Amino acid sequence: MIQCAHCGRTTDKGASYSFYYGKRLRKKTEWTGEDRFTTTHYLDIAGSDSAFICDDCVKRQILRQSLPGVVGWLLIALIPLYLAGVSYNREGVTVWSIAFFALAIFIVLMLIREQTGIRMSSQPVQYTPNVEEAGQQLALNRRKVEFNQLGYDTLLTYREYNHMKRK
Ligand SMILES: [Zn+2]
Repeated sequence: MIQCAHCGRTTDKGASYSFYYGKRLRKKTEWTGEDRFTTTHYLDIAGSDSAFICDDCVKRQILRQSLPGVVGWLLIALIPLYLAGVSYNREGVTVWSIAFFALAIFIVLMLIREQTGIRMSSQPVQYTPNVEEAGQQLALNRRKVEFNQLGYDTLLTYREYNHMKRK
């Protein structure tokens, strides 16, 4: 049993998530032609550390990150709902009004299924890149103050680190 660094609960359902820490040395802004400037940040990566995060916290983090997508799909569901209304007003209950209405219900049901699937599942989380990223984000958020006090102003997830290195 380990204590979750995010919520403080003691559980064995979770994982240790790593992140990188370092210092921002300087930034250089240069004219790269074609009407634009490019700013390069120079980082001194000092090492990596980790924190234990429970599965529940990781699931909640993923749900939070997926919220803009949920809102988008609800707006998309309004389109067939609107078309069903237009069709019903014009000709009453027809195949078209029923089909559009069914499509709107279908989108909402799929959305509920996907969201509750993540929330309700008692299975341990599957370690996909998204789960890794969410866990690492929580881990480094928890340790940020501690590392800032040590003089490290930059904390990165693996994805962010790899993104940096490629540039
Ligand atoms: Zn937790």
